[in-house]
Amino acid sequence: MKQFSHPLGQLRQDPITDKWVAMATERSKRPDAETILKPTNIAPLPRYKDDCPFCNLAHYPQEPDVLRLPDDPHHWQVHMFANKYPAFKPSKEFHAWNEGPYRALDSVGYHDILATKYHNQDEALADRKLIALELEAIILRYRQLQGELGVNYIQVIKNHGKEAGASVEHPHHQLFSIPVLPADIAELLHGTERFAKKHNEKAFTVILEYEKREKKRIVFENEYFTAFCPFASRVPYETWIMPNTSNPFFESIGPEEREALAEALQQVLGKLYTGLNNPSYNYYIHSAPCDESGFVCDKSVFGHFRWHVSILPRITTWAGFELGTGIEINTVLPEDAAAFLREQHLPSQHS
Ligand SMILES: [Zn+2]
Repeated sequence: MKQFSHPLGQLRQDPITDKWVAMATERSKRPDAETILKPTNIAPLPRYKDDCPFCNLAHYPQEPDVLRLPDDPHHWQVHMFANKYPAFKPSKEFHAWNEGPYRALDSVGYHDILATKYHNQDEALADRKLIALELEAIILRYRQLQGELGVNYIQVIKNHGKEAGASVEHPHHQLFSIPVLPADIAELLHGTERFAKKHNEKAFTVILEYEKREKKRIVFENEYFTAFCPFASRVPYETWIMPNTSNPFFESIGPEEREALAEALQQVLGKLYTGLNNPSYNYYIHSAPCDESGFVCDKSVFGHFRWHVSILPRITTWAGFELGTGIEINTVLPEDAAAFLREQHLPSQHS
């Protein structure tokens, strides 16, 4: 009779999206697995780089600033401006049309960049006050844009490092303000509604209560936020930062929550920096659509949803199985990832 030498892995299902993830820790022992935890960029960055488009603004003029914080021509710390190469552009009108079986519409909207003043002010190393200022700028711009024509959903993202698709090294966030509801957001909204109908409870409330009780996947907690590695983590060290109270709208948070979110981001990104040698990562904020008209989504489903931040280190690459099935193979159990991150110290800050 055949003897199996390897223990079985696990398939884990996300209770909201119903997506499966294959936990295959044995795969991290295969010969090419040293790609995981390979140091990427641990050399300290300079405060200013002459050839950086977001440092040398005299040589690389950007679009005019739409806001600066603090609002001072000389002493600002962060500024926001339209992307020079926008994926979405503002327009006074926009058109939708059909072509045979296909549907299309103009790419109206806004594509903004939030950049720090200095090159070495990445969140993992920056002062917490600066991160809170970044969040304040993002929320101010979010509120400015949410009533504009063609803006029905706003995606806040940050790409850090080459493997995460960052073409500019200088710390920056991007805001994509778009007319359509992304399928991933629709899936989350309808998934939480489906969960509520089935269990008569809010999915994120149940998840957070369970995680706070079990503690094994918690990375960091403060009064307002809980950071944890989700049960069905799609990539090693995936971490979510979730508000402790149910709220679908990121843009509605007040100054105290902003400070607390800044602390949670600094903790998680700092621990990733120390533990995984400054890995490339993407993070994004999932919030309910800002569409007042109900054009893209019936607002009745928002009540079950809770906004949150998802941080995905880019230390593995997708191959055919992931692309063909949408089932990611994750080689690090989220419980192990969280235990590892909890132990990490924060890097020393730049002045
Ligand atoms: Zn720079």
